[in-house]
Parts: sequence; C-alpha cells; structure tokens
Amino acid sequence: MTANAPFIGTTQLSGHVVVVCGTQRAARRAVARYRSLGAAVTTAVVPSEMAALSPALSRASLIVAVDDGNPGWDFLPALARERRVMLVQEEAAPEHGTVTLVGGGPGEADLLTVAGRKALAQADVVYYDRLGPVGIVGELAPGAELIDVGKTPGHHKVPQGRIQDMMVASALEGKSVVRLKGGDPFVFGRGGEEVDACVAAGLPVTAIPGITSSISVPGTVGIPVTHRGVAKMFTVASGHQPFSDDELEHLAGLGGTIVVLMGVATLPQTVAGLIRNGLDPKTPAAVIERGYTDTQRSTVAALDKLVMAAAEAKCASPAVVVIGDVVAVGNDWKELVAHVGAAAGSREDSRA
Ligand code: SAH
Repeated sequence: MTANAPFIGTTQLSGHVVVVCGTQRAARRAVARYRSLGAAVTTAVVPSEMAALSPALSRASLIVAVDDGNPGWDFLPALARERRVMLVQEEAAPEHGTVTLVGGGPGEADLLTVAGRKALAQADVVYYDRLGPVGIVGELAPGAELIDVGKTPGHHKVPQGRIQDMMVASALEGKSVVRLKGGDPFVFGRGGEEVDACVAAGLPVTAIPGITSSISVPGTVGIPVTHRGVAKMFTVASGHQPFSDDELEHLAGLGGTIVVLMGVATLPQTVAGLIRNGLDPKTPAAVIERGYTDTQRSTVAALDKLVMAAAEAKCASPAVVVIGDVVAVGNDWKELVAHVGAAAGSREDSRA
C-alpha cells in the first residue's frame, strides 16, 4: 500500500517502528517528524543499508520512502508488499534554506491562515514570540525545533539583532525557517527588519500575512473600527513611546478611530495629550486585554475617565486601546457579534 501524504498533526506513533529511507539531508524532515510523534525511527541512508535492517523491518509499522533522487530505492514497493508493511512516499526536504515570516493572528488557533499552517507543517525550525497561537506551535510544526524568542514589555529576552542572526544562520544551514509572529508580521512586528536581514544574506524570504490584533481584538468585543456615518478611517499607532505633541495634534484632529497597540504604559500621556489637543473628553474608549484568551477583558469608559478606569481594573499588556465613537456603536450590538473560539463564554466586561 502506498500513500503520498506524510503523517502530520496529532497522530501518535509511540511504540511503532518506522524505517525512513533516503539521504540524511533529504530525509531530515521525515526523521524529525516521526521521532516527534513518538516512533522508534531507523534510517537507511543508501539502498544497500536496507539488508542490515531486516530485524527492524520485521517489527516495522511503516516504511517511509523519501524521494532523494536515487533510483536504487525502486525495490521498496515490492519489499513493503512482501513484508506486509505500509509504505509512504515523501518529497525530499529542500536543499536550500528558506525563511517564511508567518503572521500568527491574535492568538486563537482558528485565526491562523491556511498558508501559515502549511508553512509550519514544513518547518525545520520555528522561532516564535509571546503573542500569537503559541500554545499549539508544537502540534502545528511536528518535527521542528521550537525556539522561544518572545519578549515581554521592558524585558527583551532575545535582542532583535540576535533573533535575525539566528534565523539567518539556521537558513544558511539549509533549514526551512519559520518566524511565527503575533498578528500580522508587518504591523509593529519588526517583520521588515527580518526581511532585510534575510535579503542581505541572500536568502529567499516569504511573508504570510496574519490577522492583526488592531482590528480583530476590537472586533471580538463588537467594536467595528469603521462604521458608516460614524468613522470612515482608523489609525493604528504604537504607544510604545509617548506620542509627540505634533502626533497628538494630528491624531486628535483626524476625526476617525484611534487604535493604540502597546499603549497601556503610556495611556495617561496619550489620553491627556488627545484631550489637550481638542478631542472631546466624552469620546467613548476601551481597553481590551488579552484578546481571544479565556481571560479576555474589556474596560469601557469616556476618554476623560479611561485612565482611572484602567488603573482601577489594573489593565495590563497585551491590550488594544480603542478611542472613538465606534466604541459606542459596538456597545449597542456586541451581543450579536459571533465570537470565534471557545473562550467567549468566560469573558469579563467592565464599564465606567
Ligand atoms: N503584529 C501584531 C502587533 C505586535 S505589537 C499585530 O498585528 O497584532 C504587540 C501588541 O499588539 C501588544 O502589546 C498589544 O497591544 C497587541 N496585541 C497583540 N495580540 C493581542 C491580543 N491577543 N490581545 C490584546 N492585544 C494584543
């Protein structure tokens, strides 16, 4: 029996013997994947090694024929039939390294793209962050080495330059590297710098977009970032550093929705600055923490009460701050908004 698809996902093969045939380079991905699924993996790098594997073959549940270009493996289907062992054929792992930036979305597994899942399934190594679907990386990338380079605010676990060096080094070794990032790779994700580093090293790099928290997290509590007759634009800003007076003047004057990421620590300056620059203190606003988790919480208040409300609620990063009349629109019909994910039932809300 032959099949073309490798076993991936949650299949468990502990207690099973798997014989993988093919050169080390071509077969590396299959070997890593079957090991990660718990199988006892025996390898034959060249066809002549097969003869010595007779004992393993008599216990084998599966033979994996990796297409390494060697016609000497042509006897495998007959051997598998004779031994009554299932045979699967698999493509060789690529010769040359690649880097794929994957936007992981806001953290909910169902909100990772199909393209992102495919890239993870084929990865040799995954560098991942604190945000995004981190809980299921191992399941989505069976056989990949998983490296946590996540940062917490003010505490840079792995400096950005070092992350880039590690990614490039892995790809230069010939590995398929996935850089998994929260949300979209190009929204405050430093994705551009990582692309630059790969291009400078002459490596092929692909970027797969992700669902950004700046739109999805407000959406999950029923706040549309635009709404006909209410807001015809939205600005997504980083609150990592306090805004300058110029920036505050422009933000306050735009007349659209303001979405601030990384904005909890600088919330007092942001709010004071917007009011000082003429934004109506009664503008509805919200801080939505830990979107798409079972501890998601939203704190809603008029702009002039927001800092107090957020302090009382002890709002903490990661959170999306939304300022604009759309916050009130959402409040009218948020119960009608379909929530993705099982977490929806246990969400808390508070209003000042
Ligand atoms: N590239 C990401 C943003 C990276 S900056 C994106 O497109 O979403 C990190 C900030 O994103 C956090 O400090 C927080 O403001 C926001 N964020 C990301 N995921 C979030 C989530 N699940 N809930 C709330 N905020 C989130």
